[in-house]
Amino acid sequence: MSRIVYVNGEYLPEEDAKISIFDRGFLMADGVYEVTSVLDSKLIAFAGHSERLQRSLNELEMAAPASKDELLQIHRELVKRNDLVDGLIYLQVTRGSPGDRDFVFPDPAETPSTLVMFTQSKPGLADNPAAKTGMSVISIEDIRWGRCDIKTIQLLYPSMVKMMAKKAGAEDAWLVKDGVVTEGSSNNAYIVKGGKIITRELSNDILHGITRAAILRYAREAQMEVEERSFTIEEAQDADEAFVTSASAFVMPVIEIDGVKLGDGTPGKVALRLREIYIEESRKTAI
Ligand code: PLP
Repeated sequence: MSRIVYVNGEYLPEEDAKISIFDRGFLMADGVYEVTSVLDSKLIAFAGHSERLQRSLNELEMAAPASKDELLQIHRELVKRNDLVDGLIYLQVTRGSPGDRDFVFPDPAETPSTLVMFTQSKPGLADNPAAKTGMSVISIEDIRWGRCDIKTIQLLYPSMVKMMAKKAGAEDAWLVKDGVVTEGSSNNAYIVKGGKIITRELSNDILHGITRAAILRYAREAQMEVEERSFTIEEAQDADEAFVTSASAFVMPVIEIDGVKLGDGTPGKVALRLREIYIEESRKTAI
């Protein structure tokens, strides 16, 4: 069955949805995005995602296509029209279509931004069996641009990195810049040593994960020790456990880094406990 998607004010069957070939998202990757998870037909961490969207738009001097309330309504309408129970809502804003190709930004008064949203159904999202086995990662050099804090649609390198991981027989990759881990290809990276949770501090080098913020808050509330600093792959390989976080994966244990198994090679206790807390709290606060 075809999905109902949202394009610039209209709800349409996916096969009828159209965007201009001159859209700057298509020609220049001039756009930003957000992914919000849905559990039991409710939105997880919507406030955080809409705030980060606004920040990304501000950083790129891009006009907001709709107010936060309007965006919430569209998210809810898409959940309803697609009978979405568990899954994701993808939202993308681009600088619109000025009707030709030009490096210079178009005047926002003449070229409205493009807003596209669609659902992805993921039945049993919270019971992902991968969380029980954990995943292996390899390290790859981080050659992304200097504003990884902006959630842009320039995802070619992360896609290449995922392919490199796949070819190497791993599930994902951790990016390394100046000898230390920045983050995962599409998630934030953590290690746990002696009960302490270590993750890189916020800067322009990483995406300020909405799940990261929630996990660090829950960890501190549960009296777990948290240290925000960078770490090397060698330190990670010597850690008791490791994990990643993202809106769609929640908390996912990492059991192997560059072929070296962590601890006994099974998902760590801290990662599994944080996953449990995150899913429980997310269900409670979903809207
Ligand atoms: N880092 C990168 C590079 C990402 O692409 C993502 C999510 O897509 C994250 C971190 C995790 O962010 P969030 O928890 O907001 O999904």
